[in-house]
Amino acid sequence: MSSSKIIFITGVSSGFGRALAQEAINHGHRVVGTVRSAEAKASFEALAPASAFARLLDVTDFTAIDGVIAEVEAAVGPIDVLVNNAGYGHEGVMEESSLDEMKRQFDVNVFGAVAMIKALLPLMRQRRGGHILNITSMGGFITLPGIAYYCGSKFALEGISETLSQELQPFGIAVTAVAPGSFRTDWAGRSMVRSPRAIADYDPLFNPLRQAREAKNGKQLGDPVKAAQAMLAVIESDSPPTHLLLGSDALGLVRNKLAVLSAEIDAWEHLTRSTDG
Ligand code: NAP
Repeated sequence: MSSSKIIFITGVSSGFGRALAQEAINHGHRVVGTVRSAEAKASFEALAPASAFARLLDVTDFTAIDGVIAEVEAAVGPIDVLVNNAGYGHEGVMEESSLDEMKRQFDVNVFGAVAMIKALLPLMRQRRGGHILNITSMGGFITLPGIAYYCGSKFALEGISETLSQELQPFGIAVTAVAPGSFRTDWAGRSMVRSPRAIADYDPLFNPLRQAREAKNGKQLGDPVKAAQAMLAVIESDSPPTHLLLGSDALGLVRNKLAVLSAEIDAWEHLTRSTDG
């Protein structure tokens, strides 16, 4: 077994965050997890009183984040691994979805993660070590009508993660963007925010996609416990990857996207080259 680490995970009430916390505790690590209710705090800490610590935090409460990190470092110990897992999916045709809904999607999925990183980075940099995992999505590579804001947020987090991995490499801090396919969590159920329908023109395109997502909820291919085991393997690796896909659905869809993108780049190469000099 590898040495025991302190792992800070946002969003441990359900899904990936809860499964990863449980798996990490099973492996002898200590986990600090964020939750948003007293009930979720009690439920999380009951998992393992000596190694599961919950803190109340909404990741969009940006001014509270520095204080939480400082308190955890003092009370529990230096954080070795930060897992930015908290996030949700917004579903809605873009023309029907308000800018406020987009801002909320980016506040949680992007700004929340970046705020957590910025609070912890000075400490990890001083210690010349650490590992940051950002849970993105296959939706950070591929797109689907009806989830523009979600894909936009996950593309953003992929780009930020990759850039950050280059900036932090000299300090021995690893960054891994973990992009799951479809998994059996609460993502497409209680957590999803759905914009009300308004424009009938989009019905033929969008209605079957919404219906398919609702029908698939709870029956997705991916097992969150196996995802947690894979994430823990990355956390315990001496040379973690910058990008990791989870699930054969993500693998197939992302490979196809890269092939289509590559073919389009080739098809337009003459025009691309025409602007030099
Ligand atoms: P989940 O079961 O709904 O869990 C989401 C977690 O995030 C919950 O603990 C939730 O807390 C927390 N959260 C949401 N908004 C928050 C906020 N503003 N501040 C703090 N915590 C917040 O779904 P999940 O699938 O495990 O989601 C985890 C991550 O995986 C997300 O980033 C999601 O986009 C990503 N992902 C999921 C899938 C999938 O198929 N499941 C695929 C690709 C990527 P509450 O209980 O308080 O709401």
